[in-house]
Amino acid sequence: MPLIPHEIARRRMVDDHLAARDIQDPRVLAAMEAVPRHRFVPAELAYAAYEDRPLPIGHGQTISQPYIVAFTAQALSLQADHRLLEVGTGSGYAAAVFAELCAEVVSVECVPSLAHMARQRLDQLGYEDVVVVEGDGGLGWIQSAPYDAIALAAAAPQVPSQLLEQLAPDGQMVLPLGRKNQNQKLIRLVRAGMEINEEELLPVSFVPLVGYASQVPPEVL
Ligand code: SAH
Repeated sequence: MPLIPHEIARRRMVDDHLAARDIQDPRVLAAMEAVPRHRFVPAELAYAAYEDRPLPIGHGQTISQPYIVAFTAQALSLQADHRLLEVGTGSGYAAAVFAELCAEVVSVECVPSLAHMARQRLDQLGYEDVVVVEGDGGLGWIQSAPYDAIALAAAAPQVPSQLLEQLAPDGQMVLPLGRKNQNQKLIRLVRAGMEINEEELLPVSFVPLVGYASQVPPEVL
């Protein structure tokens, strides 16, 4: 048994690490309070599930830090009728938070066993509006495009062009930009028709994106 019940630990996380900082959107705070993060981490780490930090989930990957998930959700201004693409399902935690806030989530994961576990977990918890697919999310998921919102859970060296193409005309994308062990920044791209406006949001530290979109053209190296 945990020292304090998960519900109380979760409430404290929301109060102390989110509401006390700059997470003010009531829908986002409610979503963070609704998702049982302890069900998305290995059982032996459940005691730490409501600390505001990433935790290992196997395959060298981590479940995202609660603050960063909440910050991303808030930055995307998710609406109840939105459809969202997530790149990097990992544990499925962020996908569940996004599903609390919008109509449909398509989440792409390139490690088959992580995709499988996330799918099982999300099914058990009743997240029927999340579709987990296996593949290279740097290429997006054209079958369900366009998306009102796109969120990346792994850092890309540059904005993946396929993702931009799959963004709805008034869509928004939040992604960590940068390479491993280098200064990464979370940025927001807001599409207005053919125009894309870019805004820097936060310094961050994410695991690197792998696959097609992780290739850096020679002129950037
Ligand atoms: N949002 C997740 C965090 C996952 S960590 C959570 O809350 O648990 C980042 C994930 O991105 C890892 O699982 C990694 O395997 C995955 N990933 C990295 N590059 C990817 C790519 N090109 N396509 C799909 N998934 C990718």
